[in-house]
Amino acid sequence: MAVRACGLIIYRRLQPAPRSKVADSIEYLLLQTSYGTHHWTPPKGHVDPGEDDLQTAFRETQEEAGLQASQLTLVEGYRKELHYPAHGKPKTVVYWLAEVKDCNTEIKLSEEHQAFQWLKLEDACKLAEYEDMQAMLKEAHHFLCAKE
Ligand code: AMP
Repeated sequence: MAVRACGLIIYRRLQPAPRSKVADSIEYLLLQTSYGTHHWTPPKGHVDPGEDDLQTAFRETQEEAGLQASQLTLVEGYRKELHYPAHGKPKTVVYWLAEVKDCNTEIKLSEEHQAFQWLKLEDACKLAEYEDMQAMLKEAHHFLCAKE
């Protein structure tokens, strides 16, 4: 059976400059792991016994980025699963999309991560080295832009 983890693609909206596109005001939060190859990822982690997937996604976001559920708005209608081998076992990660209500909210990392960045889509895709993660970020971005 696959290891199961859940997380949130966190984004913020900066005050758009006059005549700029909404899409250009969106930035995604990526965390750099302090383990392994120090890859960049949205907050996510393993599902605890008795927890449902969405509870896990919010708990992990609170633990790994210091963001409380009350500081976030979950985006209805977006959910994505990634499947990849991790440490020799199949892993499934379920992601939702959530906006930080206040774009200046402080990010507080746990020991699991050593850095964070808010990034425009193109830069987020450069840091997110895995193709499925890049595709997910692009898909999430198009989803948000289509809602405007
Ligand atoms: P993580 O699931 O981010 O804790 O990473 C566990 C292991 O899987 C690490 O060795 C990562 O480099 C690798 N990994 C993370 N994300 C992906 C992905 N999207 N595709 C393939 N491998 C990944």
